[in-house]
Amino acid sequence: MSYTSELLKRAIARSPGEPEFHQALREVVETLGPVFEKRPEYVRWKVLDRLIEPERLISFRVPWVDGKGDVQVNRGYRVQYNSAIGPYKGGIRFHPTVSAGVIKFLGFEQTLKNGLTGLPLGGGKGGADFDPKGKSDTEVLAFCQSFINELYRHIGPDTDVPAGDIGVGAREVGYMVGQYKRLTGNLPGGVFTGKAPSYGGSLGRPQATGYGLVYLMEDLFRRKGQSFEGKKVVISGAGNVAIHAAEKVLQLGGVPVTVSDSGGYIYDAGGLDVALLKEIKFNRKERLTAYKEAKPSSEYKAGGMVWEVPCDVALPCATQNELPKAGAEALVKNGCKAVGEGANMPSTPEAVEIFQKNGLIYAPGKAANAGGVSVSALEMSQNSMRQGWSFEQVDSALQGIMKGIVKQITQAAEAYGQPDNLVLGANIAGFLRVADAMMGQGVV
Ligand code: NDP
Repeated sequence: MSYTSELLKRAIARSPGEPEFHQALREVVETLGPVFEKRPEYVRWKVLDRLIEPERLISFRVPWVDGKGDVQVNRGYRVQYNSAIGPYKGGIRFHPTVSAGVIKFLGFEQTLKNGLTGLPLGGGKGGADFDPKGKSDTEVLAFCQSFINELYRHIGPDTDVPAGDIGVGAREVGYMVGQYKRLTGNLPGGVFTGKAPSYGGSLGRPQATGYGLVYLMEDLFRRKGQSFEGKKVVISGAGNVAIHAAEKVLQLGGVPVTVSDSGGYIYDAGGLDVALLKEIKFNRKERLTAYKEAKPSSEYKAGGMVWEVPCDVALPCATQNELPKAGAEALVKNGCKAVGEGANMPSTPEAVEIFQKNGLIYAPGKAANAGGVSVSALEMSQNSMRQGWSFEQVDSALQGIMKGIVKQITQAAEAYGQPDNLVLGANIAGFLRVADAMMGQGVV
């Protein structure tokens, strides 16, 4: 058995019942074989054996009192995955599906993603199996405060800097910042990113993941003499990443035609009304059915799979494994030519195989959605410098970072003889950055 197969077998056996973590490991480890042929010192120093094992996984009780006065108990997590190139950095997710395995998969992906950004960021991730849907403002506040009552002792501006993710936006980050400040007496400065601009948040952070995704795809198109101009784009999700991706697609002359949530999807053939979407999802916090009510010419399909809508480009921006084999087959059959992942691991392994076999441009999440964490790093810089940069300054830096990621992943893919395989390119380029830093620091 090869070094990588054996390592994978061992890693999976010691983390039973964590399918998402196994999937993320398999996808990366299986592509790294050629690296170990060129660089046997990584094997001797067991760099990958160490990298796939999180430095630390913290799990804790989160008790809180709901609006009816009943006591609720959730479970919180923080994985401090790898600090070889900087403080742990990665978002916090509130969703009923959160488990140790989900947080580990996200932390592992984050470690390699942060390596790709070229910025000094280690990898971390956190969350809780708390469902913010349908909860009042005061319930969300009570939960966030209890969550921080434990987490505060593990984080800090030079050790671990959380941000948002699914179910955690500026409101939740604000509540956590407030509680962190009460407990530590410290001005929270750079302990969280994704803050509101009035207390240290970076302009451009809410837009960064969605915009970054579209900048990365535009750069890949440019290399093939194409652009977003006139392209029909199917987007899943209706949250922070999805809506900002739709906004940037429109700005670049493309036509975003769908958004979805766990109830169904909106199809708006003439192009989405992004201002209306923002009003419904960000301000009124309503379901997507409200879009159909406000714009009757659009269609709402309950429970449908957004991938059945014909398009040129698909941008999955909701959650892991949301794009299965049947979705990939439908996309290919209807002429889709490119897939860019705004979400983390949205395509199943079977779907990825179909994209690669059919020659689609396929940009994996760890490269394509790195814009969010990149602007978080810019927020940390602004906080340290006691400065606030303009939106234009941040946006232009984001464009530069996404171009740098495209360069790295395409160069790595070429160097390893598979120029169109951006999965290979992203995995190898991310791994090399972290691996070299780990080698330099001895066996830690
Ligand atoms: P939000 O909470 O803002 O939005 C998530 C959206 O996805 C919602 O519309 C939600 O619908 C939908 N969704 C979530 N779970 C499911 C599900 N199981 N089935 C169908 N739809 C679902 O999250 P974000 O936009 O911030 O994050 C989306 C993805 O992007 C995640 O994978 C996240 O890890 C990734 N990401 C986010 C970054 C960021 O900066 N925010 C950075 C990098 C990656 P509903 O309301 O019905 O649940």
